Parts: sequence; C-alpha cells; structure tokens
Amino acid sequence: MTDTPKNAPAPCPVCGRPMVRDYRPFCSRRCADIDLGRWFTGQYRVPAGSDFNDMDENHTRRVDPDEEVG
Ligand SMILES: [Zn+2]
Repeated sequence: MTDTPKNAPAPCPVCGRPMVRDYRPFCSRRCADIDLGRWFTGQYRVPAGSDFNDMDENHTRRVDPDEEVG
C-alpha cells in the first residue's frame, strides 16, 4: 500500500516553505505581499536574496527639482 500523498500542502510559491493556512497559498503575509507586489508592479522577477531592507524611512523623502519654485 503505497499511495502518494495527494493532500500534501503545496509549498509557498515565493520562498518554497511549507504553506501556512492563514496565508495560503503562501507561508506568511510577507510572501503574500511580495507576490501581490509583483503583480501590481507588473514585474514578475525574483530578487536574488534581496530583502525589504531597502525601504528606509530616509529614502521616502524625495526632493524634486521642479518644486523649487518661488
Ligand atoms: Zn513564503
């Protein structure tokens, strides 16, 4: 009796970790956000080991040269 486990949960499509029920089909909310972000931005690329550390509070401030009026 050797039947394949068809009920085995699929791994997270983002990182490959075991899926978590609350965040299926992902393993965490982070992975769900990552996948969503890909669709929103239209670029379905997998960053090689990069993290969300790029998002610094200091980087949110942008200065436009056009705003230099008056
Ligand atoms: Zn994941």
